[in-house]
Amino acid sequence: MSVEEFDVAVVGGGLHGLSAALHLARAGRRVAVIERRWTGRHASGATAAGVRTLNRDIAEVPISLEAMAMWHRIASIVGDDCGFHAHGQMRIAERDEHMPALMQREAKMRSLGYEHEEMIDAADLRRLVPALSPHCIGALIARNDGAADPHRTILAFRRACEAEGVVIAEGCGVEAVERQGEGWLLACGARRFRAPVVVNAAGAWAGRLAALFGDEIALGVRASMMMVTERLAPLLAPVVSVVGRALSFKQSDQGTLVIGGGLQGAADVEGESSTVNFTELAKGARAASDLFPIVRGVRVARCWTGIEAQTSDHLPVIGASPNASGLFHAFGFSGHGFQLVPVVGAILTDLVTAGTTRREIAAFAPGRLMQERVAA
Ligand SMILES: Cc1cc2nc3c(=O)[nH]c(=O)nc-3n(C[C@H](O)[C@H](O)[C@H](O)COP(=O)(O)OP(=O)(O)OC[C@H]3O[C@@H](n4cnc5c(N)ncnc54)[C@H](O)[C@@H]3O)c2cc1C
Repeated sequence: MSVEEFDVAVVGGGLHGLSAALHLARAGRRVAVIERRWTGRHASGATAAGVRTLNRDIAEVPISLEAMAMWHRIASIVGDDCGFHAHGQMRIAERDEHMPALMQREAKMRSLGYEHEEMIDAADLRRLVPALSPHCIGALIARNDGAADPHRTILAFRRACEAEGVVIAEGCGVEAVERQGEGWLLACGARRFRAPVVVNAAGAWAGRLAALFGDEIALGVRASMMMVTERLAPLLAPVVSVVGRALSFKQSDQGTLVIGGGLQGAADVEGESSTVNFTELAKGARAASDLFPIVRGVRVARCWTGIEAQTSDHLPVIGASPNASGLFHAFGFSGHGFQLVPVVGAILTDLVTAGTTRREIAAFAPGRLMQERVAA
């Protein structure tokens, strides 16, 4: 059986796999993306595509700010603007008791030297989002945040990869791994790939892939749900979330309302699918119509779920395997990995080409989630 030889084999054709492949190809590496189904089949094709620095875990803020700068020049990176608009993201307080948490967050960010999150009062809120219910009293806003079009983003990253000579092998699931000298042989049905470097960007299945290399990484899974409505006249520009409720609410370029916020359906990792829980989803519809009374009665056109890996601390796993030389992990984005896509590929490229990175990634080390191997 012939073996396809590359410098780097990226397993997983979601946005993180594509971003890693793109940056590595631009660094001169011969790269294959090996994808079990098709590019964007899972979380990257289901995402709400919110581009948010707002309210991120402090450990993620440095790379998230760098990613945001990259989103603001995304067309120069992938040749398309990915439908990205920086209309801001805001986290709204409905009641007095919601304000202290937002104010403390702003103060905390200021104390750390960050200025991208700022409080606005009810009058500013009304001016920025006139359709919002008048009971809302203030918000924390990140004005440079925004949202993109997920499918345009996938297409743009894919096309940019192909323009750099990346081989994208779809319908190729990695089933077995074997060490061969300095390289790794990856068995995918009838095809064989060999590379000294492997990037694990296998999303919800990344723990399983890691285990093939001997890395036992504790991972959960989430099945976030989304719904989209019929088209409406322009209603709002920023992306809105709200304290104490699972709601993310925005209007697409086409006029549809795109409503998510982390409400969970049921994940079936083995079956590579997930199911909508309509009782839970109704909570999102209720939150949306409480905040925007004008949308009551608007028809929901479609709803869906997407699965991805979730870590116990909700921080991603980004870094070299401590056990398997040449293996690098990038997964566990826990529901907020879309925004990080451009920068994580650059980080992996640092790690692969230089063995280190100037970016702050210590909090994402794979070792923190590795199960102790207890001697029998
Ligand atoms: C409904 C929803 C809404 C979201 N909203 C936002 C948001 O607003 N903002 C934000 O920042 N993030 C959001 N996210 C999170 C974000 O979309 C994900 O973090 C990101 O898309 C993860 O990309 P990925 O490439 O790591 O994973 P995926 O896109 O899931 O790609 C992993 C790929 O690996 C493949 N694979 C797995 N195992 C193998 C194998 N053995 N061999 C070959 N291929 C394999 C899979 O088929 C899959 O295509 C959302 C996620 C969902 C589901």
